[in-house]
Amino acid sequence: LGKCLTKITDINKLYLEKVINEGDIVVDATMGNGYDTKYLAEKVGEDGFVYSFDVQETALKSTKKRLDKENLSDRVKLILDGHENMDKYVEGEVSCVLFNLGYLPRADHNIITKPETTIKAIKHSLNLLKPHGVISIAIYTGHEGGMEEKNSVYEFVKNLDQNEFNVLECGFINQINNPPQLVLIEKKKEYIK
Ligand code: SAM
Repeated sequence: LGKCLTKITDINKLYLEKVINEGDIVVDATMGNGYDTKYLAEKVGEDGFVYSFDVQETALKSTKKRLDKENLSDRVKLILDGHENMDKYVEGEVSCVLFNLGYLPRADHNIITKPETTIKAIKHSLNLLKPHGVISIAIYTGHEGGMEEKNSVYEFVKNLDQNEFNVLECGFINQINNPPQLVLIEKKKEYIK
């Protein structure tokens, strides 16, 4: 169990195991190097579909390579556009939207997710989510702009109507040096815009 509680992304998967089924449509809102996209593609199986977004060409290249190697490319659409525009691409109701905020490791640390576009993307995700679907947001505050983004996300999610959404936060409360935070939003019933 010790190993299970080391990384926020692994803790996230403990929850997502219960949420994502074979044949589901899901979204990776922050593709990066494609680790999460690969995980999602495996989870939805050959009848499912993954939409994956990033604003950096290098993220798409690296993710494509990862998916090709595992023969998973057929069930994934890699989109070079911001997640704030996901409503233009995603068709159908989704069971999960994954956000892993911040910058791409080993790339330009100035290209980061930003409060305004992140909130816009979360709003789109709420509309796309099917009942009992989950939006998962891993938040990092160690970089410049990170705390501002966390505050914006919290301000938005804590005001979601509890009759419509369950909102859970999860984090390492005994860790120094800006530990990451995980926020999960579950849709309870139809979301009315
Ligand atoms: N989940 C990724 C993985 O498995 O490797 C890591 C994601 S990384 C922490 C954050 C990513 O968000 C970066 O690749 C960055 O380019 C991307 N990003 C920044 N702004 C974005 C936006 N508006 N829409 C989509 N992706 C964005």
